[in-house]
Amino acid sequence: MTETNASTPHVIDPLGAMNRIFDHGVGVILESNDFPTLLAHLQQALRPLAAAFAAEAEEATPGDVERAARGLATHIAFELWNTTPIPANHFRPRKLARPERNAPCPCGSGHKYKQCCGAVDTPPLVLPPDEMLARVLGHLPREGLADVGAPPQVLGLVAERWFDEHRCDDVVALLEPLFADPAKLDERAEHAANILLNSYLTLQRREQGDDLLARLKKAPDRILRSTALQREAVILSDRGDHAGAWQAFKEAQRLTPDDPTLSHLEVLLLLADGRRDEARARVEFWSAKLARDPDYDHRPLIEALHALVEGDAIGDLLEQLPQDYAERRLLLHIALEDIEPPIWRRLEVENTLSFAALHNLIQTAMGWEDAHLHEFEVGGYRIGNIAEYDNPYGETVLPGEEVELGQVIGRRRSFTYVYDFGDDWRHRITIEKRLPSDPLRRPAALIDGARACPPEDCGGVYGYSRILDAKRTPRSAESRELLQWLGPYQPEAFKLASHQKRIDALFRRTR
Ligand SMILES: [Zn+2]
Repeated sequence: MTETNASTPHVIDPLGAMNRIFDHGVGVILESNDFPTLLAHLQQALRPLAAAFAAEAEEATPGDVERAARGLATHIAFELWNTTPIPANHFRPRKLARPERNAPCPCGSGHKYKQCCGAVDTPPLVLPPDEMLARVLGHLPREGLADVGAPPQVLGLVAERWFDEHRCDDVVALLEPLFADPAKLDERAEHAANILLNSYLTLQRREQGDDLLARLKKAPDRILRSTALQREAVILSDRGDHAGAWQAFKEAQRLTPDDPTLSHLEVLLLLADGRRDEARARVEFWSAKLARDPDYDHRPLIEALHALVEGDAIGDLLEQLPQDYAERRLLLHIALEDIEPPIWRRLEVENTLSFAALHNLIQTAMGWEDAHLHEFEVGGYRIGNIAEYDNPYGETVLPGEEVELGQVIGRRRSFTYVYDFGDDWRHRITIEKRLPSDPLRRPAALIDGARACPPEDCGGVYGYSRILDAKRTPRSAESRELLQWLGPYQPEAFKLASHQKRIDALFRRTR
């Protein structure tokens, strides 16, 4: 469980980045029809990616990075150029042979190809013809696509791209002619069918959606029929018709028993029925089965299955929390554990505030920078910001903005707030008093406190003790280095009035 550190120079999603680079590259080919232009574009576009990879490899000099980036650019330029279908060439690529080993390298280095880009180790690229055609069509105006006669799976890929760009009207215009007569279609239209149904849903065209489903259910192709039945099962389940949903599911299962998407639908329907234990058991069953598939990587689907039951567990726990509780104003004493002399604050808070609000209060009262993950531990409950970190197999973490203090604190005397899972700052929060609620006052106030909170990223309790040591013996070489890193930090400084101002400001904005 690691978080993104602000000091990491490049955070790049390599697959997404490559995908965008391929897309732009295809655009450059279509626009320029010129290989050197493509090569120059790729050299530019690949530099940050190559630098990020080189930063991970040890002992890479800037020269190494430059050579690797150029070699990769040359390699990708040939692959893209030779697989991009050109509209003016009847949608066939215009192939270009790679240079002879002793020819000058096309990258412009002045070296022989065999000693330059030809010598760079490059990964094999996966550029399937369907996807390349979809990339090209995605760059063309919609009106031009009707005459191309692209196969349904390519139209599905183009439509998916447009759907992601919120161009639902374009999707409908592109795909409706395809589904005019489902009798002519086969399983290659499955993806397109799903995208068209999603677009109808987004555009709230229920009638057209229902109409398309009805026609697909009569298609001669059993995979298309199964797709339609699975969609119908979801719709019926949403409308509360559980029996109808299960019937559609079973019909789909009869048609395509090996379809992996049935796993998601089955778990969804079990949860809708409130059959949680069965749903969990089926997630385990399907995960094991899908993981054994030698032909296909089902990890995204397996993760989605776990997320289904996990999301359901959170909803279930939230529902079980008391909605009615005595409203109180709590006097909280907050102190960092294992630190001497103590770093502490005293806060008054209404117990109707959320844990997300208390998180903001503690950050401001302590002087933290909210640069890391956090979590509350209240008895058996864990409360945090689940959107910020992966917790696929861990315990259930409740979302802080959806839980009020009074719902879980009850009669407890203390609980814990952990900030920064690396430095592991554990704050012991003691409830000193339960006062009558006071709706006329601000919902929180800082009463008192002492000492500055430790500097961010200083290495936890141990790192902090080293700072105090350095302050005591500032002349030693080690101390000097540490104090220089530290800057003007003063461990004993705490200005109550300025912290109070910041807390008050917090409550003019958020509540
Ligand atoms: Zn070269």
